[in-house]
Amino acid sequence: MRILVGVKRVIDYAVSIRVKPDFSGVVKDNVKMSMNPFDEIALEAGVKLKEAGVATEIVSVSIGPEKSVDILRTALAKGSDRAIHIQHDENVEVEPLAVAKLLKKVVEKEQPQMVLLGKQAIDDDACQTPQILSSLLKWQQATFASKIDVSEDKSTAEVTREVDGGLETLKIKLPAVVSCDLRLNEPRFANLKAIMAAKKKPLEVLKMGEMGVDTENRIKVLKVTEPQKRQGGGKVADVNELYDKLKNEAKLL
Ligand code: AMP
Repeated sequence: MRILVGVKRVIDYAVSIRVKPDFSGVVKDNVKMSMNPFDEIALEAGVKLKEAGVATEIVSVSIGPEKSVDILRTALAKGSDRAIHIQHDENVEVEPLAVAKLLKKVVEKEQPQMVLLGKQAIDDDACQTPQILSSLLKWQQATFASKIDVSEDKSTAEVTREVDGGLETLKIKLPAVVSCDLRLNEPRFANLKAIMAAKKKPLEVLKMGEMGVDTENRIKVLKVTEPQKRQGGGKVADVNELYDKLKNEAKLL
C-alpha cells in the first residue's frame, strides 16, 4: 500500500506576518519557512501506518519553488521513503485547483491507495485542495481526520472526523483522499542520523510547466491588509460607566 502525502512550504507558524507596503501580498524574503503544520500531521499519519505494517511506501510531494526542497528533505528525514518536487518559479502562487490537478497527475503515475493532505495550508487558509482532488479523481474523501483505521484487506478505512459538537466516524472505500486535523497525532522530530540518511533518499524533480496541466490562476487577489490593531483594555469606575461605554462607544446595546 503506497501513501502519497502533500507537503507545502509556508511561512513558519511562529513568524508574525508582515504585509508588503503596496498591499499586494505578504513579505516572504528573509522569513523562516517550514512545512505546513497540518502536512506534518499528514506525514506522521502515513509514517505511523507504515510502522504498523499497513503501508509499504510513503511518497511526499510538494509543489513549490526551488527552495521547497528543504521541506522535502525534512519529510524524508521524518520517514518518507521518496519525494517528488514539482518546481515552479519563485513568487508564483499556485491556486488549490492547480495544485489538485498537479497532484492528480502524480496520483495517476504513482497509483497510491491513499492521499494524505493537511486540512488546510496556513498561508492561504483555502481548505480546498483535498476536496478538489477527491472530486477530480472521483475518489471518496474524509476531511478533518482525527483517527484513521485501515481495514485488514486494505479495501476500506474508518476515519473519525471532528465535526461541530462531536466526532463522526465514516467508512470510506480505498483509494481515497484524507485530510488531517490537529488531533490526529503529534508529529515527531527528526534526529541527526535521520537527517543525514535523508540526503541519500530519492528526490525526483519535475518542472510544473512540463506537466501538461493548466495552472493559470482563476482568482485575483485585490488587496492584502493587516488585521486591525487591538485596542488596549481600560478600567471603568462603575456599572453606569460600563453601560454607557457598551451602549455609546462599542454600540453593543
Ligand atoms: P489548501 O487547500 O491550500 O488549504 O491546502 C490543503 C492541503 O493541500 C495542504 O495542507 C497540503 O497537504 C496540500 N497542498 C496545498 N498546496 C500544496 C502544495 N503547493 N504542495 C503540496 N501540497 C499542497
